[in-house]
Amino acid sequence: MAIWNLGSINADMVYAVPHLPGPGETLAATELSQFLGGKGANMSVAAARAGAHVCHIGAVGADGRWAVDRLTEYGVDTRQIAEVSAPTGHAIIAVEASGENQILLFAGANHAITTDQLGQAMSQAGAGDILVLQNETNAQVEAVKMGRELGLKVCYAAAPFDADAVQAVLPYLDFLILNEVEAAQLQEATGMAPQDLPVAQVIVTFGADGARYFDTNTGENQVFPAFKVKAVDTTGAGDTFTGYVLAGMDRGLPMPQAISQAMRAAAIMVTRHGTADVIPDLKDVQDAIL
Ligand code: ATP
Repeated sequence: MAIWNLGSINADMVYAVPHLPGPGETLAATELSQFLGGKGANMSVAAARAGAHVCHIGAVGADGRWAVDRLTEYGVDTRQIAEVSAPTGHAIIAVEASGENQILLFAGANHAITTDQLGQAMSQAGAGDILVLQNETNAQVEAVKMGRELGLKVCYAAAPFDADAVQAVLPYLDFLILNEVEAAQLQEATGMAPQDLPVAQVIVTFGADGARYFDTNTGENQVFPAFKVKAVDTTGAGDTFTGYVLAGMDRGLPMPQAISQAMRAAAIMVTRHGTADVIPDLKDVQDAIL
């Protein structure tokens, strides 16, 4: 079985600044660090680290070859990542000493995925494989329709949240994951609580308070408390959690077991600084004393 991830690939460029720039201000940054980022790339790395075969479907510019190499090093199948003329998606992140930040996002190549590319990639998927996407690429509706037709399990992480984007894919989903703020926004837009959505399996995450799983067919829901850890950086916790849940589903684990393992992975993640580069592998997750 495989996980097909139509996902973003970003260069996260983090600039240390004495203060966040104001309008019209020219400001000298004191340090630059570059990381692999993007919700899509993070989820691919997490699911691969959890032991799944993950085929990333995406696009970068010529300036993003390093990002593809990095994904390959982390065990992601990168053969379905196209190189296009647009620049690689990136986030310019200014961080002041207090930790407060300001982020400028440019989708770039993440919005240059063609239907042909998507079709070609998906033609290699088999019934029962998982298709996952988030809201950082184009071609989302085309992808979920293809996924449905091919008999894939269609999964969506509703972030960054956009009510129209979720509602456009909602009729084609088997699984939806969103945090509590996104769940409230979706409820406001649709009038439907998570358990009433037309999606078989829904997870709502609550940060340090854990997560709740809804099986909308049976009407059951189950609460999963998070592990108590000393969090130093929560960036990427959600993507790690999702990647691990998907990998568990792909291995045929019952959902509660997949969620428990994902909770462990995300708890370890928040004790580390960084995103894709520090996502724990399955052995770390199994061995951790939490
Ligand atoms: P992100 O900050 O990556 O966007 P998110 O908002 O999508 O995250 P959260 O609800 O913050 O997702 O976190 C996802 C999961 O990560 C939680 O359900 C929990 O298992 C774990 N987690 C997050 N923060 C903590 C924490 N402080 N301590 C322990 N576990 C945590």
